[in-house]
Amino acid sequence: MRRAIYPGSFDPVTEGHLDIIRRSCRIFDEIVIALLVNPNKKPMFTIDERIALLQSATAQTDNSKCQVRVATFQGLLVHFAREQRACAVVRGLRAVADYEYELQMAQMNRRLAPEVETVFLMAGAGESYISSRLVKEVFQLGGDISGLVPPVVERAMHAKKL
Ligand code: ADP
Repeated sequence: MRRAIYPGSFDPVTEGHLDIIRRSCRIFDEIVIALLVNPNKKPMFTIDERIALLQSATAQTDNSKCQVRVATFQGLLVHFAREQRACAVVRGLRAVADYEYELQMAQMNRRLAPEVETVFLMAGAGESYISSRLVKEVFQLGGDISGLVPPVVERAMHAKKL
């Protein structure tokens, strides 16, 4: 049983995240999408809203080979990974800009929990420019975000704006 943690803010979940989740499913038996509860950030969606959007967006990903589950965590990621008995943390790499931060985090996490490996998946060619931040910015300025986020997220964003 190989369980991996996929941590992030997911504010909101994008097609880039879903691509990483689908591909992680080919490697692991269970993916725990771990929503970081960060009281310092002012998100567009509440934790409960993000959980519901993730659950609904990943409902089709579930199959007999891989379970996808959504959880929240606070504090150190490695503590959560240990608590969940995960063997790996999955991260997506988009541009070179992601690299430095991710290298530092992976090395620090390895020092704290050597048994938990960080696994990087390169962003898909069609998704590498998608970030939650940019999607929100484009949306707030009236741009079309269809195809960048799952339809359930697009609807939720329109509902927020009303
Ligand atoms: P964080 O706040 O930790 O950056 P995010 O919710 O933005 O969390 O992203 C979670 C993870 O998903 C990170 O590893 C990030 O690099 C990855 N990710 C985000 N968008 C994409 C994308 N378009 N393609 C591949 N990976 C992505």
